[in-house]
Amino acid sequence: MKKKTVLILGAGPAGLMAAYTLLTESKDYKVIILEKEPNVGGLSKTVNFKNDKIDYGVHFYRISDYKEVNDIIYNLFPIEDRASIQLTEKQKKNYVSLGNDQNNSDSIMLINKATSNIYFNKKFYDYPIKLNLDTIRKIGFVNLIMIGCSYLKVLIHKVEETNLENYYINRYGKRFYEMFFLEYTKKVCGVHPKDINIDWGKQRIRDTSLINILKEKFFSNKIINNEPSLINEYYYPKYGSGEIYEKLASEIKKLGGKIIPNSYVKQIEMEANQISNIIYNEQGNIKNMKIDYLISSIPLKRFISLIKDDTLDKQVVKSIKQLPFRDLILVNLVLSKKAMLKLENYKKIKENSWVFIQDPMVNFGRIKICNNWSKYMISDSDNDKLLLTLEYCYSKNDPIAKLSKEELIKQVKKELKYLDLFPKDGIKDYRIDKVKDAYPAYYGTYSNIKELKKSLNKYTQIYFIGRGGQHQYIDMDKAMYTGLIASKDIIKKNNYK
Ligand SMILES: Cc1cc2nc3c(=O)[nH]c(=O)nc-3n(C[C@H](O)[C@H](O)[C@H](O)COP(=O)(O)OP(=O)(O)OC[C@H]3O[C@@H](n4cnc5c(N)ncnc54)[C@H](O)[C@@H]3O)c2cc1C
Repeated sequence: MKKKTVLILGAGPAGLMAAYTLLTESKDYKVIILEKEPNVGGLSKTVNFKNDKIDYGVHFYRISDYKEVNDIIYNLFPIEDRASIQLTEKQKKNYVSLGNDQNNSDSIMLINKATSNIYFNKKFYDYPIKLNLDTIRKIGFVNLIMIGCSYLKVLIHKVEETNLENYYINRYGKRFYEMFFLEYTKKVCGVHPKDINIDWGKQRIRDTSLINILKEKFFSNKIINNEPSLINEYYYPKYGSGEIYEKLASEIKKLGGKIIPNSYVKQIEMEANQISNIIYNEQGNIKNMKIDYLISSIPLKRFISLIKDDTLDKQVVKSIKQLPFRDLILVNLVLSKKAMLKLENYKKIKENSWVFIQDPMVNFGRIKICNNWSKYMISDSDNDKLLLTLEYCYSKNDPIAKLSKEELIKQVKKELKYLDLFPKDGIKDYRIDKVKDAYPAYYGTYSNIKELKKSLNKYTQIYFIGRGGQHQYIDMDKAMYTGLIASKDIIKKNNYK
C-alpha cells in the first residue's frame, strides 16, 4: 500500500507528538514537519546563552491528566527518584512508574520543590498563599476583614460569571482577587479581567478557591491542589524543558520522519474542501507538495491567511485573523550571586523557582530564578553566577514593543531597583528574546471561537492542534495530547477505509 503523506506545520510539543504518534502506531504514513525556526521545541524550547542553557521563561512539567502523554514523556525522561514522589489517586492512574532506573542517565526529570512567591504592596507572600501567621501579619487587619467580608458576600450571593473578574470573585471574593490576581492577569492579558472570557479562568485555575486554601491549611496533607500553577513539586529535564522535544525529534527521525527547519507553507490550495496543492518554502526554495492530511500547530490566525479557498466566508476569515495574541519579551540577566545576597529582598526570594510580580509599577509579570531549576544548565566555575529571566508580555502597540535593547535594559534596571533586586555591581551580561504569539488571548473575536472553528470543520483532511492551532491557553501536556489525538484519528479513519 502506498504510504499516505501527512504534513505537520510546526515542530513544537504538539506537532512533534503528532509525528511521533503516527510513526510509532503505524507504518502507513510518510510524515513531514515544516518548522519555520532553525530549532525544535516551539515556546518550550531550550536555547544556548553562551555557555549556559535557558528556556523561554518558566516551563515545568507535572503528572498530566493525559495518560498517553505521560507514558511517552516519562518513558523518554524518567523522574529521577520515582519512589519519592507523592501522587494523588488520579495522578497514580495517569502515571505508571516505569521499571528501569535511569538515575545515572542524562535523560531524566529532576524533582524540584515548587517554591514560589507573589509580590504585592511591597511584600513577598508565599504562593500558593498559605494561611499562616506570617501571611496574616503581612496582609494586615483591615485587608483581612475585607477579604473575609468580600468572600462571605460571594458565598451568600454569587455574581453572574460573565467575565474573568467575576469568575475570580466567585472563587476568592473581590479583595483577595484584587490583591493576588488582578495585576498579574492584566500584565499577561493586556486588558482588564472584566473584558476577558471566563474560559481563561477555567484553563488557568480550574476548581481552586479560597475555601481550598483554608482546607489546605487545616488538612494540608490531604489536599493536593488542582490549579495548574498551584503545585507542590514539579519535574524538569536535567538540561531544560526543550530537551524533551530534541529527544522526540531525534526519535521521529529514527522512525523515518522528516523535520525540515527554516521552512514554512506559503499557500494551501483547496478544491471542493479538499487540499489540492501545497506551496511551501523549503529553506529558501519554493516547492509544491501533494498531501493526504495536514496537521497545523501554527497560530490559527496565521494559518487562515494561507488557505486559498473562495468559498470560505469573508467575515469568518476576518474574525480569525483578528484573534488576539500576546507576545513576550524575555530578558535573561547574568548577575553576581554575592552582590545579590546583600539585598534584603533577594534574600527573601532566593530559594524560589519563580516569583509573580503583582505590583503595577513593574512591567514584568514574573521572575524565574534559573539556578533553582537545574544546576546542570549553568556554567558557574566560581560559584557566583545568578541567572534570572524576566517575563514581559506585550501587544504590538504597547510602549515596551518600541524600546531598543538599550532602552529596555534601562527600564529593567529601574524596575529591579524599585524591587530592591538590583545589585551594586550591576548586570554582568544579558540576552533578550522576543517571542511572537506566546499567549492566545481571550477577548475580541475570541468570543466567537466555537463558531469560527466550526466553519473550518468542512476541511476534513485538516487538523488544528496545540496552543496556537486551537487558540487555547494550554500547557505542554495538553498541547501534546491534541497532537496525539489528531494522529490517532487519522489512523482510525484510514483503518476503516
Ligand atoms: C512564558 C511561558 C511559560 C510557560 N510555562 C509552561 C509551564 O510551566 N508548563 C507547561 O506545561 N506549559 C507552559 N507553557 C506553555 C507551553 O509553552 C505551550 O503549551 C507549548 O509550547 C505549546 O506547544 P505547541 O506545539 O502547541 O505550540 P508552540 O510551542 O508554539 O509550537 C509551535 C511551533 O510552530 C512553529 N511555527 C509557527 N508558525 C509557523 C509556520 N508558519 N510554519 C512552520 N512552523 C511554524 C513555531 O516556530 C513553533 O516551533 C508556557 C508558555 C509560555 C509562553
